[in-house]
Amino acid sequence: MNDLTRLTAREIAAAIAAGETNAVDVAQAHLDRIAKIDGQLHAFLHVDSEGALETARRVDAGEISGPLAGVPLALKDVIVQKGVPTTVGSRILEGWRPPYDATVVERLKSAGVVILGKTNMDEFAMGSSTEHSAYGPTHNPWDLDRIPGGSGGGSSAAVASFEAPLAIGTDTGGSIRQPAAVTGTVGVKPTYGGVSRYGLVAFSSSLDQAGPCARTVMDAALLHEVIAGHDPRDSTSIPSPVPPVVEAAKQADISGMTIGVVKELSGEGYQPGVEQRFAEAVETLTGLGAKVVEVSCPHFAYALPAYYLIAPSEASSNLARFDSVRYGLRVGDDGDRSLEEVMSLTRAQGFGAEVKRRIILGTYALSSGYYDAYYGQAQKVRSLITRDFTEAFALADVLVSPAAPTVAFPLGEKLSDPLAMYRQDLATIPSNLYGGPAMSLPCGLSDGLPVGLQIMAPTMRDELLYRVGAAFEATMPAPVPPLDWEA
Ligand code: GLN
Repeated sequence: MNDLTRLTAREIAAAIAAGETNAVDVAQAHLDRIAKIDGQLHAFLHVDSEGALETARRVDAGEISGPLAGVPLALKDVIVQKGVPTTVGSRILEGWRPPYDATVVERLKSAGVVILGKTNMDEFAMGSSTEHSAYGPTHNPWDLDRIPGGSGGGSSAAVASFEAPLAIGTDTGGSIRQPAAVTGTVGVKPTYGGVSRYGLVAFSSSLDQAGPCARTVMDAALLHEVIAGHDPRDSTSIPSPVPPVVEAAKQADISGMTIGVVKELSGEGYQPGVEQRFAEAVETLTGLGAKVVEVSCPHFAYALPAYYLIAPSEASSNLARFDSVRYGLRVGDDGDRSLEEVMSLTRAQGFGAEVKRRIILGTYALSSGYYDAYYGQAQKVRSLITRDFTEAFALADVLVSPAAPTVAFPLGEKLSDPLAMYRQDLATIPSNLYGGPAMSLPCGLSDGLPVGLQIMAPTMRDELLYRVGAAFEATMPAPVPPLDWEA
């Protein structure tokens, strides 16, 4: 076989099933590649060679089979895996080894997916560049001096650089789709409740959703079907069948569909090169037989401020559990200090600046005197955004926009300007507030850097993303980074 790391997940599974290769060789090829290049990329926080090879051996022994058996995967470090360090990109959980598997991990394991290790991320998934990781940033394989997106930049960089054909991300405000956009990969945020949140370290519970990262739409669909489905351990999990996403990716036919271009997701803040590629993508969709209409979602303009009240509010509550008693770091516990002092020292040292900013913002927004003015108001905006989506989906089957307003920016560029960082999520946040599924897939390059096309669908209609995505993908070869930095 040629270089096993260049194969898609589907090709790997087929080659293993046909006996042309075996899962151990595939796992080893990816582990070797990580050993060779990850010093430059820093996509991984922890590599679990032993665990990966053990699963691969079980697949080769015929103990596990299925459509993704023996396929390597990189897991965002926000998802707990029994016995494997889980840091969430934070010092506060350094050294913590979870005593159980997330439902997502359970499902991956029983499908024979080979988990290579844990990927880097912005601390507690707060950010758009991985620069807020307490363990240093990840680099974009297209240009090592640029960001790979965030918060799941480790997952997207691993997939784009052929360290893994698949990865898991989580998307609260765009953390699967924006990294996919800026690394030229495919990323999907499923319908809220489509994939269990059990075992995800919580950021904003009404928004958090795990989903697939891959290099092709079909690979994302295969992974989607493995991880999705009802889980009684997550009370917001949807108790109905998983949308037929693999079938839809095979169908890849959009003739007769109506596609809505969202007027509000363009203009100010969007780079001309991004808008250019997006306009061409819309032309392509028309050429494929879709009817394209313009739709207006007037409240999308308020999505960003609403999100930056709701998400920090929920985070301020969720992060209260990092109290120096239950998990991870404990600072200053010398026997003389009170519990409150130890707690405060631990949180002061264990959390980074962005996490503290969010906790302070959220605590303020929830305080009794301001609750109605901030949190209450943001919830109303959330309802209006949902109404915008409902009205738009009466006119169009799916909506499209650029997935990120810019191409990958240089490391350091937005670090001193939190609002500029937040604006990376302009196009992705509306779907989170509404709860509907959305995908980013590559639609060409601008200045040699990838641009992402976002497709948004009504809740529980995830298959529509794959139908449109696969049809579009067929018109354009998957982009491959130059990788000229490789030793
Ligand atoms: N960039 C957004 C934030 O910082 C989204 C994060 C996410 O989706 N986890 O909150």
